[in-house]
Amino acid sequence: MIFDAATCALPLELETDLVVIGSGAGGMAAAMAAAERGVETLVLEAGEYLVPRDMTQREEQMFPRLLADNGNRTNVERDVKIHQGRGVGGSTLHNINLVKRIPESIRAAWARERGLSHLSAEVWEALYEETERLLEVSDVPRDQWNRHNRLLEAACQQLGWKGGGLRHNRTGCLGSGFCVVGCRYNAKNNAFKVLLPRLLAAGGEVLSNAVAVRIEHQGGAARGVRALAVEPTTRRVVGEVRVKAGRVCVAASATGSPALLLRSQVPDPSSSTGNSLRIHPAVIAAGDFAEPVHAWKGIPQTYECTEHLQLDEPSGHRVWVLPAFAHPVGTSTMVPGYGQAHRALMERYEHLGVFTAMIHDETLGTVRPHGELGLSIDYWPNERDRAELALGLWACTQALFAAGAERVLIPTRRPRILRPGDDTEWLRRYPIERGDLDVVAVHPMASIPMGDDPARAAVGSDGRHHHLQNLWIADGSLFPTSIGVPPQLSIYALGLHVGRALAR
Ligand SMILES: Cc1cc2nc3c(=O)[nH]c(=O)nc-3n(C[C@H](O)[C@H](O)[C@H](O)COP(=O)(O)OP(=O)(O)OC[C@H]3O[C@@H](n4cnc5c(N)ncnc54)[C@H](O)[C@@H]3O)c2cc1C
Ligand code: SF4
Repeated sequence: MIFDAATCALPLELETDLVVIGSGAGGMAAAMAAAERGVETLVLEAGEYLVPRDMTQREEQMFPRLLADNGNRTNVERDVKIHQGRGVGGSTLHNINLVKRIPESIRAAWARERGLSHLSAEVWEALYEETERLLEVSDVPRDQWNRHNRLLEAACQQLGWKGGGLRHNRTGCLGSGFCVVGCRYNAKNNAFKVLLPRLLAAGGEVLSNAVAVRIEHQGGAARGVRALAVEPTTRRVVGEVRVKAGRVCVAASATGSPALLLRSQVPDPSSSTGNSLRIHPAVIAAGDFAEPVHAWKGIPQTYECTEHLQLDEPSGHRVWVLPAFAHPVGTSTMVPGYGQAHRALMERYEHLGVFTAMIHDETLGTVRPHGELGLSIDYWPNERDRAELALGLWACTQALFAAGAERVLIPTRRPRILRPGDDTEWLRRYPIERGDLDVVAVHPMASIPMGDDPARAAVGSDGRHHHLQNLWIADGSLFPTSIGVPPQLSIYALGLHVGRALAR
């Protein structure tokens, strides 16, 4: 059953074997795996329970409902936008469905540096095979790539750069192009469509609009959770929910989980909780093409450029280039300028193609709780990461011109407009400064990095907390570093892995 905390008689006192906090890729997978092994399971989810017919395909309606902080989450300085999901299904409700495995070189480095005795290469392989089957991952046929993606393909061919098609988890996709505002056609093989029905069939329950604010612990062991019921539109607190539980599994995302652990004063002698957040920061460049691109139509992100993503080389570049479409409201927030100048650019909307450069980051950000319900993120890319972002700006610009753009717009505060043949070399060394251009991130991770050694890690590679009994972690927080590829597949896989470990 799925219950809405905001409409229950409050305060609410509950008791269960296992309470899972957060219902995204990691939390829903862990809850499903545990429930299917006979563990009485309750999931607390901060967001709403939305079904496909609720997805209106309107940005101004869906972003506030589907995104953390109503879509306004940023770092403390407000110069990095950080988008994360909220709702039963978490960020898998509005993500773009790209699927890739973490490169073996990165997993091998983790094993060398952190042990990860519960995650051998064979365990990873089995988890990936199972998760890819579960989510029905497949290649997107080339005849379904839209013009926007084909422009990047053409650019790579023209420049002799490496690139290729991407695999996605979608079945029955109509190519409507509204993925980031939720799928009205239920074509995403995500936590909502694939895992939730199995959780419910196994007797699991979900309480939506319930924000966990404290992990209750005593005598060195987790005993339950204190949560607040919130009214979904205003996010006003309407009452309290207390859950007594034999086991607590935290999967509130790489920002929500460390904030909750720190607010709850969960012991961590390794001091690793909330001190190593990575986010895959990204910048964009926009091309203006003579023929309409209609970048918002069709399946987004079916082609990638990996020329500058050298993850297997110790000092290789760390830049991943993709097409990045946005609907009108999103685009208007990224297009620089005001008044007539802004309007003139927006009038070219259907002719715009936008490429983004996302980097495999080294910067260590921090997450801290902020008040009873909020959190704060301190993150600004370090010098080496800023150099990679500048390389990314250059790569996007080269690719846009190679694809035929008549001008390229670099959305710095003083917008730069480049024409074919203009010098672009300076972009490689462009000094990325705070507030000069938008840095955007959609992949927070690595904020409670797993490791075998309790002196260096708060949590082991089975998800078990080293320093508080009966506490488990099952989300993107667990990665020891950034991964340079889309994270959802690996988070689903870790969710299954942790759910089974805690059920044993
Ligand atoms: C626009 C966008 C596009 C993306 N596209 C892709 C893609 O194509 N491929 C890919 O691999 N990845 C993509 N991602 C990222 C991917 O979706 C996430 O990395 C992944 O879902 C994270 O899983 P998680 O379990 O760690 O957290 P989430 O899926 O974010 O789930 C966390 C859940 O916990 C809930 N929660 C938080 N705090 C609390 C609390 N205190 N109490 C109760 N509940 C709480 C949240 O509401 C949320 O529902 C995208 C992300 C965004 C924002
Ligand atoms: S493009 Fe496909 S998956 Fe995305 S919203 Fe449309 S039908 Fe759903």
